[in-house]
Amino acid sequence: MIRSCLVCNVPFQENEALEHLPRGRRVAFDSDRGRLWVICQSCRRWSLVPLEDRWEAIEELEKAVRDRGKVLSTTDTIALMRVGPLEVVRVGSASRTEEAWWRYGRELIRRRRSYGKLTAAAGAASAAVVLGGWAAGGLSMIGGWWLWSQAPDGIKRGARWMRFGSAAWRGRRSCDRCGHEFTDLSFGERQNLVLLPRADAPGEVVLGARCPRCRDLEAGGGLRLEKREAERTIQRVLAYHHFDGASEQRVRSASRLIEEAGSARDLTRILLRKGRRVGDLQRTGAIALEIAAHESSEQRFLEMELAELEAVWRKEEELAAIIDGELTDVPLLESLRRKAVGRISS
Ligand SMILES: [Zn+2]
Ligand SMILES: [Zn+2]
Repeated sequence: MIRSCLVCNVPFQENEALEHLPRGRRVAFDSDRGRLWVICQSCRRWSLVPLEDRWEAIEELEKAVRDRGKVLSTTDTIALMRVGPLEVVRVGSASRTEEAWWRYGRELIRRRRSYGKLTAAAGAASAAVVLGGWAAGGLSMIGGWWLWSQAPDGIKRGARWMRFGSAAWRGRRSCDRCGHEFTDLSFGERQNLVLLPRADAPGEVVLGARCPRCRDLEAGGGLRLEKREAERTIQRVLAYHHFDGASEQRVRSASRLIEEAGSARDLTRILLRKGRRVGDLQRTGAIALEIAAHESSEQRFLEMELAELEAVWRKEEELAAIIDGELTDVPLLESLRRKAVGRISS
């Protein structure tokens, strides 16, 4: 069984997820061609698993992907999936077991559950411990996250503050009309923030805030955030807005909205048409927007990664074909496969 990278010799990490391939956190497989690689966490190169060790592992992976796999991103040729602790590159046309947006929907449902739990489990003792840790300055980011999912009702507001801070955005901009200087946007004013579709890039959103001095926004004044800055701020504002998560039914309705629109981007474009105040958004629409905002930024990142993976796979597949002796015929592979299966099961 393969234990370390064939290129740099660094041992593969154990995964505790696959019986027949216990090492490697990132693996690639192609069940049509019978290939299996472990991708090195250190040098990122692919190590081809020896032929006799492949078959059960491929079958096991195929099943794991079918039963528990979450599709992160796909092209026509490969799919990047997550199965428990494993990242799996699956070669071959992928059946989309799960749309990417549904994963984030689950996150919202989970948020609702932990919010409910923390409401029910009001415990002064745990609050004291958490607040004690916070006062002593010993509460880390992770502590904050923990608090967010665990803290009892009385300090929910504190939990939200610790997770998000008080400002949705900080920077330095001035109003084009009166020169008023913007340095931050607080979450407290989120209801009045305006989401506008970008005229030159449908599906992208501009985040606008009315100028507190000249009251302008429509005539070119006020604060306008665009592109990545807008995207990040909108994600933060909506996550703050939906701090208590959403019910499964709500997430389903929101997901249906995205499906009917066609894509996350289309949903954003349709929903915002001529611009909407955050406070005027319907709950389901707002949840759909949060999912869409998350989806499009994550998707862009994944697509870049996937293009890179596909290029690597092409090279590795060429090499694997040579190593496996593609010219020796399939019956030989098949007999090896039988031998391997027989050996394990007997
Ligand atoms: Zn390596
Ligand atoms: Zn102004």
